Amino acid sequence: MSFIPYGRQDINAADVAAVVEILQSDWLTQGPAIERFESAIAGYCGAAHGVAVNSATSALHIACLALGLGPGKRLWTSPNTFVASANCALYCGADVDFVDIEFDTGNMSVAALAEKLQQAEARGGLPDILVPVHFAGQPCDMPGIRALADRYGFRIIEDASHAIGACYGDERVGCGKYADITVFSFHPVKIITTAEGGMALTNSADLAAAMRRLRSHGITREAAEMVGPSEGAWYYQQVELGFNYRMTDLQAALGASQLRRLDEFVARRTQLAARYDRLLADLPIGRPVLRPPMTSAWHLYAVHVPDGARRRVFDAMRAAGIGVNVHYIPVHLQPYYRKRGFKPGDFPAAERHYAAAISLPLFPGLSEADQDHVVAVLAASLRQESS
Ligand SMILES: *Cc1c(COP(=O)(O)O)cnc(C)c1O
Repeated sequence: MSFIPYGRQDINAADVAAVVEILQSDWLTQGPAIERFESAIAGYCGAAHGVAVNSATSALHIACLALGLGPGKRLWTSPNTFVASANCALYCGADVDFVDIEFDTGNMSVAALAEKLQQAEARGGLPDILVPVHFAGQPCDMPGIRALADRYGFRIIEDASHAIGACYGDERVGCGKYADITVFSFHPVKIITTAEGGMALTNSADLAAAMRRLRSHGITREAAEMVGPSEGAWYYQQVELGFNYRMTDLQAALGASQLRRLDEFVARRTQLAARYDRLLADLPIGRPVLRPPMTSAWHLYAVHVPDGARRRVFDAMRAAGIGVNVHYIPVHLQPYYRKRGFKPGDFPAAERHYAAAISLPLFPGLSEADQDHVVAVLAASLRQESS
């Protein structure tokens, strides 16, 4: 059997045709495909505005800036995430701290957040922005987090890089019911892809306008956003310091084409996850835990193996050609963050999760035969472990 990756894009003839059509059109970038893609994603999720950018990392950066993050301000996120969820604070010159997770879901613990907020209020040091991360595709307890935001006055950027297509009960992630801004990633291992790419959704016209300026050098062509009058039809102004974080029309057309299959992708991932649940039921491992009414987009199927078994199980599965992975090395344990004062023991649930976690292959094109093979190799490596 050939190598089975942990994640993989699914590109069909319609996706290819959509990109070719742009190649033959007048606009490779800054053309009409961008707005079409933004409206399609915003419409799907139930948000008023979408701002397409070249990565979720860029989206997190301009979301932080649009919400006023800067030196002297604080952002808190989950340690169980990709480094980008924390780095966005440092790009802005702000401080970053973490809130521990629930071991079973891998999501930020609302109890830990409530406790940390209480302490921060007592000694001064409440966060300005919270970045909950919807681990593996399941939304965090956003009603619980929203209630705390209302009480303590922080803003919320959801890092929904794993979670396009997931729901909190009746509403889709990205609708803006709980967060100021929601960020998606369209990297090829994520749910839908634009190769590289990301988007920020918001219901605030002002935040959307700020993020549009920041994605393109801080430049505006809107008279209403200018200092003084416009000097003519050619005129633009740089009103703040922005970046070139633009998505191309090629990427936007690919994304819009992929979006048409998003429900199909999530349904297939959900079906494969349920099949893993059945096939793994008798093994001595922790399987993913869902908290209804949340539904998951199933970016990852991450299991917990017994204490001390992770390294050997991982190595045995890789040796057998199975592209297992680990999500995540806690961000606070990265050397760069240790230099900032974080240390082992700071976020014990995230560290315990990391010590046991293995992500099994999960993507729409995974065949049942390949999935059976993954399960057989996992079972054999766990047996070796216990003998
Ligand atoms: C993938 C990912 C990102 C970064 O996405 P890019 O589009 O590669 O910048 C950020 N946060 C999380 C949780 C991710 O999984």
